[in-house]
Amino acid sequence: MTTTNVHKQGMELKSSWDVWGLVSKGVFMVGVFVLATAARGEWFLVAKYLGKDFLRDVMPTSDVKVNTTSQLGRQLQVAGFKDLPIYVAVTVLVSFSTFWGIGMSFDYYFYRNRKYKAEEWKCQPDRWLSNSTEWHEFLLGSFNVLISSVAYGFISCYIMNGGKCTLYARPDEYGLAYLLLSVPALFIYNEAIIYYAHRMFHTPFLYRHFHKVHHRNKSPTLYGVFATHPLEFIFYQILVAWPVIVVPLHAGVFLTILLYGYYYGMMDHSGIKMDALWPWQPSTMFHDDHHRHFHCNFGTNTILFDRFHGTLRRTNRKYGEKVFGGKGTAESSENNQSEFYTYSTWNISPFK
Ligand SMILES: [Zn+2]
Ligand SMILES: [Zn+2]
Repeated sequence: MTTTNVHKQGMELKSSWDVWGLVSKGVFMVGVFVLATAARGEWFLVAKYLGKDFLRDVMPTSDVKVNTTSQLGRQLQVAGFKDLPIYVAVTVLVSFSTFWGIGMSFDYYFYRNRKYKAEEWKCQPDRWLSNSTEWHEFLLGSFNVLISSVAYGFISCYIMNGGKCTLYARPDEYGLAYLLLSVPALFIYNEAIIYYAHRMFHTPFLYRHFHKVHHRNKSPTLYGVFATHPLEFIFYQILVAWPVIVVPLHAGVFLTILLYGYYYGMMDHSGIKMDALWPWQPSTMFHDDHHRHFHCNFGTNTILFDRFHGTLRRTNRKYGEKVFGGKGTAESSENNQSEFYTYSTWNISPFK
């Protein structure tokens, strides 16, 4: 049986639409979503920001002067980073407990206890990571979580001490129309920058020197979501975070779209077959195929950019680590007909 056939069979698995299937899927999604709220640390920034405004409203005199005894503490306070160690400690602690917690739960539930029926839940049931690649994902992913959680500890602390930030807390501050329009605008912005930046990292020079690190895993696990070259990782972080100091955005909108991205980022790297509740969100096979076929499927939360640019994976096309450009090559001269894969089947569930 060819790998293409295995893939197609996976796409055609029928859901029974039973109540328990839907309930377990819903509980699973909500549970992981709640845990993922703390996966990296930005949540802290938004939660504290909203909290700051709230506290300011109800307790106008809450800005009590605390005597700081240590010299370092006084210096931090003068520099606008009062209580910095507390912010950093909380973001690091929460980030790691959730990142490792979700990763280990998936590992236990699927990869260890259900390995014998991998055909039912795994995107690539015939491919498993070697120990060294698994450790590579875990250690590099954890290193990047450390970088970003420490960075967001600094940023949260800076903002809480009165630093510049354009997030706002009152929903009507810029009008309801602005608030509602900002949701699709931010979603499309995030998707666009990730598509184009990711595609840029798939050009030969950047791929070989940076992005290849992320593609060491042809069948990723959840830890792989952050397993990128640290410089590439920081680049994406800046692209996603910079609006909070330039564009007025409601903190809830920013947080929701951020968490949406984290949730599907984790699921897309989990190696587990899942579809999504939303029609614009492709199944996890979309990004799993990116790891399997390399230079195609560069988007994350919609296939639209790939469809528009013709970089969505197509039938009768050959892909591989050395086939750059995003469109593959014709499989044979006799058969040049090819179609795009859809990745929105509404019937893939790992819960059987
Ligand atoms: Zn890639
Ligand atoms: Zn990936």
